[in-house]
Amino acid sequence: MIPFFNLQAINQQYRQEMLAAMARVVDSGWYIRGAELAAFESEFANYCGSRFAVGVGSGLDALSLTLRAWIELGKLKVGDEVLVPANTYIATILAVLNNGLCPVLVEPDEKSFNLCPLNAAKAITDRSRVILPVHLYGQLADMSTINTLAEQYSLLVLEDAAQAHGAAVAGRRAGSLGHAAAFSFYPSKNLGALGDGGAVVTADQELADMVRLLGNYGSDKKYQNTVKGVNSRLDELQAAILRVKLRFLDGETQRRQALAKQYHDLIKHPDIILPSFRDDGSHVFHLYVIHTSRRDELQAYFAEHGVETLIHYPIAPHKQEALSEWREVSLPLTECLSHTALSLPLGPAMSDAQLIEVVRLCNDWR
Ligand SMILES: *Cc1c(COP(=O)(O)O)cnc(C)c1O
Repeated sequence: MIPFFNLQAINQQYRQEMLAAMARVVDSGWYIRGAELAAFESEFANYCGSRFAVGVGSGLDALSLTLRAWIELGKLKVGDEVLVPANTYIATILAVLNNGLCPVLVEPDEKSFNLCPLNAAKAITDRSRVILPVHLYGQLADMSTINTLAEQYSLLVLEDAAQAHGAAVAGRRAGSLGHAAAFSFYPSKNLGALGDGGAVVTADQELADMVRLLGNYGSDKKYQNTVKGVNSRLDELQAAILRVKLRFLDGETQRRQALAKQYHDLIKHPDIILPSFRDDGSHVFHLYVIHTSRRDELQAYFAEHGVETLIHYPIAPHKQEALSEWREVSLPLTECLSHTALSLPLGPAMSDAQLIEVVRLCNDWR
């Protein structure tokens, strides 16, 4: 059996160091907003090539609290429009809705499946205030074109970098490519905690301070609350774990990239479209997603042969029951992708032999 992603094997490698980090936290007697969080925030900001990282409770909160902070700072107001890729994970869109903002769903680029700047430009109105590209599957969106567009229309740029820790273009990493970025440390993300976690990364001190304030009940002085905040903090245990795993992230990313390159070079099938990417570090392969019009057939075939695959994502956000307001909206490419996408097994713990077996099955598929 070839698992889709063997998280147990990945974390097992760091067991000793993680246990030592956890013991350090247990013994410290300090569990929320302490030295581990401060150290992780500084290390992660530095890793991303930005000035500030603020630990929060999840990736969703990182997105939500950034938008909320911009509202508090007077840069956004309820009812403003946020351009988002239509083919994202639903969290991106929920973060917009949770703040009373209006998501404008943009069809993706046909090759990268990332936010298409041209389609985004067409969707801009006089209420557009934010563009929210998602580095989908670990591949950077076209940030230089997006930033040019943002300057032209005075838009704030929020990167959804939940799948793209360490992805870089011209030496600049995700987290440093817009006004702010949201990261998730959900256990199976490229940098994963042993539970929920997230961070906002930004070079803007005012924004970082406001996010920190909002995530701590709107209080930076005990029992004095200046804004209506929430409880969304990255706790000391998770910060300590993430500090261990951050040191191994680049090695894991290189392994993901090497496996993806092998898939790219070895899979040859007329009915399978491979992901298009540049071999320059701009894709960190959170997922390796192929497309085929015979997707369900291929997934069943893999299952019969002991290979676990997943679909990212089987139902487009605007087709979800939860977003029934969008039911009548037509987004043909996004809808098509939800019927053709299939994610192959990939992760830093995958062996060459496992990859070769997946390739063989793929190429033998009739
Ligand atoms: C995982 C993910 C999120 C949400 O992160 P959580 O930590 O699960 O809240 C947001 N956006 C994208 C693109 C994601 O993949």
